[in-house]
This record gives sequence, C-alpha cells and structure tokens, in this order.
Amino acid sequence: MVHLHVKSVGQNPLAKIPPAFFADAMLGSIARKLRIFGFDTIYIRDIKDEEVVSIASKLERVILTCDKELFKRVVKVRGYGILLSGIDDVDNLAYIFAKYTIKPIDLDTITSRCALCNGQLENAKIEDLESMGIPPKVRLLHREIFRCVSCNKNYWKGNHFNQLRNMARLVGIKLDTSSRKG
Ligand SMILES: [Zn+2]
Repeated sequence: MVHLHVKSVGQNPLAKIPPAFFADAMLGSIARKLRIFGFDTIYIRDIKDEEVVSIASKLERVILTCDKELFKRVVKVRGYGILLSGIDDVDNLAYIFAKYTIKPIDLDTITSRCALCNGQLENAKIEDLESMGIPPKVRLLHREIFRCVSCNKNYWKGNHFNQLRNMARLVGIKLDTSSRKG
C-alpha cells in the first residue's frame, strides 16, 4: 500500500487528487470517518510531530491537524497540510472537502476503507459468513457484508453506517451552502 514515490514536495499548492491524508494523533475520529468515506488515511496514535511531517512529506500525504505549531512545521518544509479549526467533525470534513473540491460523498461501501486500519474492503462470500462469526440476525438482515483484507474486521450497513450516511449528507449541505456564499 505504501508507495515510496518521493519527489520534492510543495511544488504544487495542492497534493494529488484524490488526496491521501495523514491525520495527526489528535484526529482519530476524523481519520476513521475519512476512511469510511473511502479516503486513504494514515493515523498513528503515538507518533512525534517530526515523524508525521517526515512520513507525510515522503508519501505526499496531506497532514490534517488542529495544532498550529505542527502546521507551521508543515509549511516550513513546504509539505501539504490543512489546519483544521472546526469544532466538530462535520465542519472539519466540509473544510477538507472544500479545500480539495471534493464533491459531497455518496457513501459506497465498496470504495470505503477499514475504519480501524485503513485496509481495503472486499465483499464477503455468503458461504464464509458463518465462519466469519457474522451473527444469524445480521446475515438475514444484510445482503452485503464486507471484510477488511488487512485486519479481517467485518462491516455491514447497520445503524452506524446510517449515521455516517447522515453525516455525509450534512457535510454535503455545508459544502453547498458555503459555495453559494462564495
Ligand atoms: Zn482493517
């Protein structure tokens, strides 16, 4: 998954599209949501700021942070960064998407990534559901069940998914309103 394609960073004002992210240690919640929304997002809980800057620069990832000091370091090395100031995840996500002109997301689990490990998801086979430990009730209710190819975590479109879909809708509304304001 890690492609060590190193070039001098900072030549372009914005990173590649779609952007890949590196969320700083405070932004676990944003990282999990970006992954579910399908964005390749690294998140490491215990990591020093200088390591974040160094790894993100090498991998051309956009650093997400609320920390002004960390953001200053990113600017100094001409890396990609977004300084988040929103008080909630919807504000922060809308800000990130506006910055990269990402259209409101239509949640499609096939492109989603694992919230836990950033791995890619695949459709689970019906014959495997029992051995995967999927409860019978879930097997009956949900046709589509996904499994992370990296850590084997299972996903289906339950309540949590609906909350995320709702959040995606709110982010979309926010983007739409702010673009109309100019
Ligand atoms: Zn995983």
